[in-house]
Amino acid sequence: MQQAKMLIDGQWVDSISGQVLPVQNPANREQFGTIPRGAAQDVELAVAAATRAFPSWSRMVPRERGRLLSQVADRLAQRQEELAQMIARETGNALRTQSRPEAASTVDIFRYFGGIAGELKGQTIPLGEQVLSYTRREPIGIVGAIVPWNAPASLSALKIAPALCAGNTIVLKTAEDASLAPLIVAEVCNEILPPGVINVVTGLGEEAGAALSGHPGVHKLSFTGSTDVGKLIMRAAADRIVPVSLELGGKSPSIVYPDANEPWVIDGVLSSMRFTRQSQSCTAGSRLFVHDSIFDDFVQQVADKASALRMGDPLDEATDVGTVINEKQFRRVCSYVREGLENPQARLITGGLPPTEGPLSKGFYTVPTVFAQDSNDWRLAREEIFGPVLVAIRWRDEAEVLRMANDSHYGLAAYVWTRDVGRALRAAHSIQAGWVQVNQGLGQSLGQPYGGVKQSGIGREFALEGMLDSFTQVKAVTVNLAV
Ligand code: NAD
Repeated sequence: MQQAKMLIDGQWVDSISGQVLPVQNPANREQFGTIPRGAAQDVELAVAAATRAFPSWSRMVPRERGRLLSQVADRLAQRQEELAQMIARETGNALRTQSRPEAASTVDIFRYFGGIAGELKGQTIPLGEQVLSYTRREPIGIVGAIVPWNAPASLSALKIAPALCAGNTIVLKTAEDASLAPLIVAEVCNEILPPGVINVVTGLGEEAGAALSGHPGVHKLSFTGSTDVGKLIMRAAADRIVPVSLELGGKSPSIVYPDANEPWVIDGVLSSMRFTRQSQSCTAGSRLFVHDSIFDDFVQQVADKASALRMGDPLDEATDVGTVINEKQFRRVCSYVREGLENPQARLITGGLPPTEGPLSKGFYTVPTVFAQDSNDWRLAREEIFGPVLVAIRWRDEAEVLRMANDSHYGLAAYVWTRDVGRALRAAHSIQAGWVQVNQGLGQSLGQPYGGVKQSGIGREFALEGMLDSFTQVKAVTVNLAV
């Protein structure tokens, strides 16, 4: 039984209350560890440590900070497989298809931000020969970051690396169901970085998370998670007028044109739906709009390939699809599937409710499921399920499909499938989303700004611009040269 501790001021500590939360393996529902149940008093210590560490960290030459982050990348690369195994164990994400790529991406995030520390540049402003006016990109101060469980290590790295690169110090609150992988990342950081620069508090959202988002000593909030909690974070930020970045939910459209009934599009649609992550991805292309002329054939091919994915033990190399994270999500996904089964207008093409017998019934295994429907207006097509339930919707007219695609309070990602470049770009420019992919359904790339519009969030991550906007503040200095 692994008894994890939190990282505060360079030390590994229990919560002050001494209370712990269980860590469960979602593949068999067995407890294999505990994490401290951190709360307000632990957050207090973590913020105090980050505050003490800030002056010298923020004044360090930026490229020196970058060099240390690159060292984190090197050291983490040596523990990449251990990290991948931990992600698989605590989240249920299959090792081969999801956890290893996530561990690799975690290393890459530190490498990327380690390399761009010299780019924290300001500008000079031409106010005339008698004036020197320039701007500086200064760190904001203490960052309070809160992450979810669906990609716990890489999403933690996406907060830690840019925040520290820009000269801030950080208190990270991990998700209660997936803290062990982020704690490995923190362990490596702690071997290389000065104490207090990174602090990690584990615990419940309404306890540790709320205490962090409401703490007066925190100068910037960076949150990834659900839209509902994002609203709470924004309210907490409003009370103190601190800047906030939000990476929230999505219900992303995938639009298939009549010329795209080809095998590579089927594969791309499966990839964009993230079935091998049990679709626990904010960018999942979970609303599949297929043109009427190819609808039945195309959707059947998607269903056939989805049902061929191999579900099983996340640690087994042969497994394509693991489990969803916990009982709550499991029940949630099942309730949506049940609703689809009961809806007379919906047609089940593949999947359905989880197995109730055999080895898979022991874990939170949900089956890749495809429903067909003619309308975008039912709950399954509007709400983020965060599970492997794809809704296929028929379309006939381009203007109509673009209207349906935009008829959502979310606006995170979108996918367009056609060889007609003009059409693809017209659609890409009309879709209300932070990121549109044409003829591919891949994950985020470092260097390319990523984030949402509408209720999918505020701010951009993954790139230099995102780091500058989210983790620095601009100061203008104006010097009268005439004296
Ligand atoms: P969640 O919002 O329930 O939890 C996220 C984090 O917030 C957790 O650490 C949780 O403990 C904390 N939290 C919960 N209540 C809180 C409160 N009152 N105050 C402060 N913190 C609180 O989300 P989840 O269920 O863990 O993750 C799934 C959601 O995350 C999905 O909606 C998904 O779309 C979203 N997500 C978005 C992105 C993105 O980049 N846009 C990436 C991954 C996940």
